[in-house]
Amino acid sequence: MPIRGKPFKACRRCKALVDKNAEVCPYCGSRDLSDDWEGVVIVIDPEKSEVARELGITKPGRYAVKVS
Ligand SMILES: [Zn+2]
Repeated sequence: MPIRGKPFKACRRCKALVDKNAEVCPYCGSRDLSDDWEGVVIVIDPEKSEVARELGITKPGRYAVKVS
């Protein structure tokens, strides 16, 4: 997937995917957002998701697997 045209940015602090026009992460309030991320994981139930546990995700939402 080309980097240009990604509809989201990823938060470096909590890995949440946010609108590319957003300046603040709505999940954790961080302004440290990155255009350079890979993979998407949708977490519906963090307590039952192994991926969520591995990535340290505690809230349901849409997250990047890797944020540079
Ligand atoms: Zn965040």
